[in-house]
Amino acid sequence: MAKSPLDIPGPLGTSRPRRWLANFRRRTHPTLAVLGELLPRTLDILSSTAVLVVLSPVLLVRALWGRHQTGEVLTGSTLIGRYHAPFRRLAFAGSGRFSSLIVWLNVFRGDMSIVGPRPLEADEAANVPVEDLVRFAVRPGLISSFRVRSQIGIAHQSESAVDRELYYAQTVKGDLGLAARSVVSGALGGGGAPLEMPSMLNFFGVPVVNTTMDEAVDWIVAKAAGAEKHCMAFVNPDCLNIAWKNADYRAALRKVDRVLPDGIGIHLGCRMLRQALRANINGTDMFPLLCEAAARERLPIYLLGARPGIAKAVADNMVKRYPELLIAGTRDGYFDPGEEQAVVDAINGSGARILLVAFGAPRQEFWLERWREQLVSPVGMGVGGLFDFYSGRIARAPVWMREMGLEWVFRLMQEPGRMWRRYIIGNPLFLYRVRLQAKHPRKFPLPDAVQAPGSPISSDENH
Ligand code: UDP
Repeated sequence: MAKSPLDIPGPLGTSRPRRWLANFRRRTHPTLAVLGELLPRTLDILSSTAVLVVLSPVLLVRALWGRHQTGEVLTGSTLIGRYHAPFRRLAFAGSGRFSSLIVWLNVFRGDMSIVGPRPLEADEAANVPVEDLVRFAVRPGLISSFRVRSQIGIAHQSESAVDRELYYAQTVKGDLGLAARSVVSGALGGGGAPLEMPSMLNFFGVPVVNTTMDEAVDWIVAKAAGAEKHCMAFVNPDCLNIAWKNADYRAALRKVDRVLPDGIGIHLGCRMLRQALRANINGTDMFPLLCEAAARERLPIYLLGARPGIAKAVADNMVKRYPELLIAGTRDGYFDPGEEQAVVDAINGSGARILLVAFGAPRQEFWLERWREQLVSPVGMGVGGLFDFYSGRIARAPVWMREMGLEWVFRLMQEPGRMWRRYIIGNPLFLYRVRLQAKHPRKFPLPDAVQAPGSPISSDENH
């Protein structure tokens, strides 16, 4: 006979206090639901009223200016709001600054909220995937998680997926946090004159590809399926500081086929050079996407580096997450120089198409350079401390810190003894050096054969 759900251990057959709590929740649910709706709306009304009152002199002048120019005070565009209802997003008529300030009237009226998914054009709204339609169950917002992440360069998921996440995780406290973070991300990523977005960046003569996460993963997968050998590196400000002083490391970076930009420091450096970074392509964000793509394309991965047991733990974790993933082999990064040939033979015998080397910079780049001829896997890349994160040895910064570009602060707090020099001294030093480069760009030429993404530099051309 089938067991009643109450006989099965778990949330349904729980003890008295829990049942009492469940009853209490069920009875108060309508009240909680109304409060959950009223509280954010009250905050929207209070804050939009405050903004409109404080800005009223500016708004009045801007309204008169618009009327003087066009004979109209307001204009607007029709966008799709909550429950798919169209609404007019207001703007002041005529050209000039502050035209969008009147959008606070939309917040006051309830067309929009301060935090919520971006209001969409009708054709964009028609293309939202079915699983993400919940985004229309809340008011569109002035600030969205996706926008904050885009400004920092870490928006690697689709916008509608981030909106869905926002819908399910939304709380008043979370909204206040996001609003605060948007001030930081706006200062770092937004505002000012539109910046040039070159396809290749230059830091101290090292060519850094300015691309998206999707393109970067596609590139690896395409190369891993091919016959030619390719090498890749990630650089953060610390790596570039090393490259500034260490000519061998700089030469090694100039020789690899692709260098990718990692971290908020690169973002700031780009702004100092009056350029825009397309995305922050750090290995830690890329790794799960790469595993997913490699699993789909049946491309085996080899994990080399970190302390004993760490690479194996990473392999186990990733296979749990992507059961189709093929791990060609794992090996820690603490072996005698005499064992190197055996390590290379083991990698070559494993059938790996993608080799991840986690020895830290610049050791991993030198190692890949030294063994490049002998290694047969088509793609090799240095990934720094990546395995420590995915093995669970070191926790990664929470999303709110990453959204503020503060992942480095988290790492500093975890290992202050090792990291203070890298961040407290290294970050300002890097920005100072970028400033020097901005003043004397001719002193930092890129290698002659550098090409844009999509047309990778072959190492021979680049020598
Ligand atoms: N490591 C290694 N062999 C060594 C020295 C270091 O495998 O001889 C590993 C170390 O265990 C760590 C990684 O290299 O997992 C370096 O981490 P770090 O955070 O310094 O790298 P970053 O990401 O900053 O380049």
